[in-house]
Amino acid sequence: MVPGVRLVVLGKQGAGKGTQCVRLSHHYVVPHISTGDMLRAAIKTGSALGLKVKETMDSGGLLGDDLIMEMVADRLSEPDARARGFILDGCPRTTLQAETLAELLKPGTLDLVADIEVPTVQALRRLAARRVCIDCGVNYSVSSPPKVNWMCDVCGGEVVQREDDTEEAIRRRLELYERQTAPLIDWYESRNQLAKVNGIGPPDGVLRRIIRAVEERRATGTRR
Ligand SMILES: [Zn+2]
Repeated sequence: MVPGVRLVVLGKQGAGKGTQCVRLSHHYVVPHISTGDMLRAAIKTGSALGLKVKETMDSGGLLGDDLIMEMVADRLSEPDARARGFILDGCPRTTLQAETLAELLKPGTLDLVADIEVPTVQALRRLAARRVCIDCGVNYSVSSPPKVNWMCDVCGGEVVQREDDTEEAIRRRLELYERQTAPLIDWYESRNQLAKVNGIGPPDGVLRRIIRAVEERRATGTRR
């Protein structure tokens, strides 16, 4: 069996991050820990956390670093993540979260932060083709729809184009992402934990490039 991994995956919307995280999780046999999925699940179950999240989001507020990191810390402390590692998706978003994550992992560290890079025009094209399940949030696209009549393969929910997936809105979100993530990228780069991975082309090729980046980083680590 391949060794596990402690991997953070970054990438703007439309970079194919979700797809790669699922594949990486299968390859390394580690949980795919997505803060987006966890937040959606918390809202759905109506837990104390879920109510807090819903309240914050409904009022247009931003979820605080504390809340996100508490949720991530809980998940990372579970046996599967402790034993083999994780693919972390959606966190960290800020350098403060990155610092907290580094503390959580001590005495260990991340193996790598993989930043999947695609040009904005390509991200725009992918996002315009994107369709999403209104119930569970799973992504589809015009070129890979659900098997039956735009009903979600996972939960049977309705699969639609998000109302905020207009080109103008998408462009704004992409710009916001770049602005917010730039300090985080610098932070990991200065600690020599970042690998930029070319996200253009078929998903299999992108996956191979990420796995190669992890292996290269590990090889360098043992030489030191
Ligand atoms: Zn669904």
